[in-house]
Amino acid sequence: STLSDIQTWGQFARTRPQRPEFRVNHELNEKVSIFVGDITAIEVDAIVNAADNELTGGGGVDAVIHNAAGKHMLRLECRTLNSCPTGTSKITGGYKLPAKYIIHTVGPKGQQPDQLRDAYQSALDLMSERQLKSIAFPCISTGVYGYPNEEAANVALRTVRLWLESSPHSIHIERVVFCLFGEKDREIYNRLMPVYFPYN
Ligand code: ADP
Repeated sequence: STLSDIQTWGQFARTRPQRPEFRVNHELNEKVSIFVGDITAIEVDAIVNAADNELTGGGGVDAVIHNAAGKHMLRLECRTLNSCPTGTSKITGGYKLPAKYIIHTVGPKGQQPDQLRDAYQSALDLMSERQLKSIAFPCISTGVYGYPNEEAANVALRTVRLWLESSPHSIHIERVVFCLFGEKDREIYNRLMPVYFPYN
């Protein structure tokens, strides 16, 4: 899916929240999207991988990304990076993916909001450091790492909203896509998007 195929939140939004947490900002609404499906299909500058500390391409979305990018080449590059502490990010090529790069970020094991925030923030910082303009996130830590989905979504949405509003680099960002795979996350993000990205 190219970015022009993926509606922005501003184009999509229908139901107003009762109590939005943030003010209406139409410019921001045009920079965020929800995508339902497989993250390896998204043609963005960088997809984010929910990696492990050793960057081994173990299971879950990590394995799916390694398989789609081409296991061998990606594993070789990951090996040169010498692991990745929790809450930080490292970047590799995208190889056979439609995405140009993969930003490997390591979320917490269990409900650790500061570490989850750091994971999202470090991915966004790395994207802008490399002058990339679009990024797609999976729901980091909500699989094997066991972060409760709704709490994780609140951290993800708040972190992206605050980063887009406050980073001096965010002016160059064209799109942040939240890639939702499970049914649970679809329901949660449809409910929470208007809280963090209200419109009128
Ligand atoms: P973690 O170890 O960080 O918990 P997982 O890969 O186990 O990572 O799960 C993270 C999230 O990725 C889960 O919400 C899962 O539904 C989602 N996921 C699994 N496969 C894909 C995929 N192909 N594209 C996008 N998201 C995916």
